Amino acid sequence: MRLLIVEDEKRLALSLAKGLTAEGYAVDVVHDGVDGLHRASEGTYDLVILDIMLPGMNGYRVCSTLRAAGHDVPILMLTAKDGEYDEAEGLDTGADDYLTKPFSYVVLVARVKAILRRRGNGGPSPVHVLGELKVDTAARRVFRTQDTADTEDTEVALTAKEFAVLEQLLLRAGEVVSKGDILEHVWDFAYEGDPNIVEVYISALRRKLGAPLIKTVRGAGYRLETPR
Ligand code: CA
Repeated sequence: MRLLIVEDEKRLALSLAKGLTAEGYAVDVVHDGVDGLHRASEGTYDLVILDIMLPGMNGYRVCSTLRAAGHDVPILMLTAKDGEYDEAEGLDTGADDYLTKPFSYVVLVARVKAILRRRGNGGPSPVHVLGELKVDTAARRVFRTQDTADTEDTEVALTAKEFAVLEQLLLRAGEVVSKGDILEHVWDFAYEGDPNIVEVYISALRRKLGAPLIKTVRGAGYRLETPR
């Protein structure tokens, strides 16, 4: 999942980016409304966190311009409590939700997850079953089910990045997902390293999941098999 933060308070923007990155999201940050609109229009983001008072172009205009152009990327607006603007206006311009500053980081993460779940491709259930594996995309954890009913499921410990790669494959289970698609949604634009990093994560996932779930489709990418 790739997120865009449009926020001119640099310290706030960077601390949000740091926290969300630790949650396993790829996060890009821009500090003015015009850049925000351009980036968000590219269509590579799964969610945009958008401040209202911004240099260049305010958040309402960014939001309404995106919607008028047919972009339906989920938008979480950040509003200032004592501002002259109110939340209702944010929702009128097409935002999915809003958060009033100051907010706690925990609440922000919960809202981001809720919006992604609501708007997500995963449908109403955040738990996906892949053979003996259960992938909970809300809790971002993977469990292995046990044969006997009285034994608890064991967790397969994945890093946040490994989970993010698995999630991209899961969102398009049964289809071929290219290395470029995975890079675009899991790594942010500051990543200038080797695109073969994806292979490293795929190998780690194969080793940890312990089942032949991820197929390599030569020259095209990877496909997550969906056993019954
Ligand atoms: Ca601002």
